[in-house]
Amino acid sequence: MEQKKSLLLDVDEVICFTGFLPAVNAFLGTDYVVDDFDCYYIDEAAIPKERFQEFNSFINKRNLYDDAILIPNAIETIKDLNSEYEIYICSSCINPFDIDGSGRLFADKYNYLRQTLPFIKPENFIFTNAKHLFRADVQIDDRLPNLDSSIETKILFPSYHNKNISDIELQEKHVIRAGYDWRTGWQEVRSILLGEKEYPQEEPNKIYVKTKGSLFKVKNDK
Ligand SMILES: [Mg+2]
Repeated sequence: MEQKKSLLLDVDEVICFTGFLPAVNAFLGTDYVVDDFDCYYIDEAAIPKERFQEFNSFINKRNLYDDAILIPNAIETIKDLNSEYEIYICSSCINPFDIDGSGRLFADKYNYLRQTLPFIKPENFIFTNAKHLFRADVQIDDRLPNLDSSIETKILFPSYHNKNISDIELQEKHVIRAGYDWRTGWQEVRSILLGEKEYPQEEPNKIYVKTKGSLFKVKNDK
């Protein structure tokens, strides 16, 4: 039997948005949506410095995957990719602003992945910040520095924080951008990796698959 190609797959902002932003909103009494931000660390941008410690204690009591919202078409596409690729989850579980409180993220992410992607073997879960140590045929990640130059097919998953990366920079780094909008990112990935031009079109602005908790709001939601 022909060996499957290998695929390194990120989790946060690629498979799902965690309940991090809902936690920020609950803590501050705000109504932010992801597209309000253009930097990766939402807490750094939104939480006043003097309340950081209080915020970290607040989120430590929550399972951020209870409120996780799947990115549209993620599950269906990953399931289809799984028949062609050996998929390895490659994801960090460390909150750099709360190293000591990060332990529960490992368990919460593990349990979420088991429930959400039961067809991926847990033996293929890699929880690390050192993504550059791992080799694969394909890598999908929303952070450009995580895409390893030695990997042949590198796909930047579109997200609120990477819209401003120039096409020239991506070309120089041989990175393929899966569009500019996270709402259609998995459709682009499907097209890139499975070569399918036609894919199920979800209704615009009605794109959320809710796991638990409240619906993730988006600007221009109708
Ligand atoms: Mg990510």
